[in-house]
Amino acid sequence: MSRSDSRFIEGRVHDLGDGFVVRRLLPHIEARHIGPFVFFDHMGPVTMAPGTGMDVRPHPHIGLATVTYLFEGAIRHRDSLGSVQDIRPGDVNWMTAGRGIVHSERTPDAERASGQKLHGIQIWVALPRSAEEVAPEFHHHPVASLPTIERDGVRLRLVVGDALGLHAPVRIFAPMFYLAAEFSAGGRFVLPAEYAERAVYAVDADLVVDGEPLAALRMATLATGSDVAIVAPDGGHAVLFGGAPLDGERHLNWNFVSSSRERIEQARQDWAAQRFGQVPGETEFISLPAK
Ligand code: MN
Repeated sequence: MSRSDSRFIEGRVHDLGDGFVVRRLLPHIEARHIGPFVFFDHMGPVTMAPGTGMDVRPHPHIGLATVTYLFEGAIRHRDSLGSVQDIRPGDVNWMTAGRGIVHSERTPDAERASGQKLHGIQIWVALPRSAEEVAPEFHHHPVASLPTIERDGVRLRLVVGDALGLHAPVRIFAPMFYLAAEFSAGGRFVLPAEYAERAVYAVDADLVVDGEPLAALRMATLATGSDVAIVAPDGGHAVLFGGAPLDGERHLNWNFVSSSRERIEQARQDWAAQRFGQVPGETEFISLPAK
């Protein structure tokens, strides 16, 4: 990797209210997607006082899978399939929206009462064109079910896909990987050139990526075809992800992803007419925003 073929991505901060800060890294003008990864939000860390919590009211998705992974705290997921699932640090929630699903994400009752620190990553993966209209599914994989390896001061957990000879249990639709790395001071590993498109995000500490500094809260895209050494001089967390190039461009509109603009328009009309289905236990919902 050299400066000419690496790109650095700085997130844009959104305050979603109540001090709940999300840092959006993808999509970015320098990288619309990396493999099938079309959307990358780093949420928190945010400290929620007793009696307060996160409340993302029911809203729809099509054409993508959402992937939630937490470093701290807990979130309760509910969806129109009837799923009710708390996610905690190290677990993965994978929700295939396919032809349509509705979900909510809220702070669980106990954590709302006690207050909590919440810190995690929310990613959208575009489904390949052949799977854009599959039936929706929700899968929770607890931390103990995800493969991990330890190397030279770094613990690597494979959240999704295949990498480093590991295979994650999440059902996916195209070649990809998503690794969570926890470094001790000076920890180091080499990410092999398994996938054409890859990126590394420095979650909470400065990294050195192939000899070049990558400051905390920044992302670097990695050149195709090269093994890349990643070092964390002071320790900390990083995530690494990527995959085969997406099979064509996608339209992103609100919570909808599709290769077809007409399909997105249909989804907007379906949500406006409340044709997506209900989330059991929920009465609220987020209204369709103006275009
Ligand atoms: Mn959502």
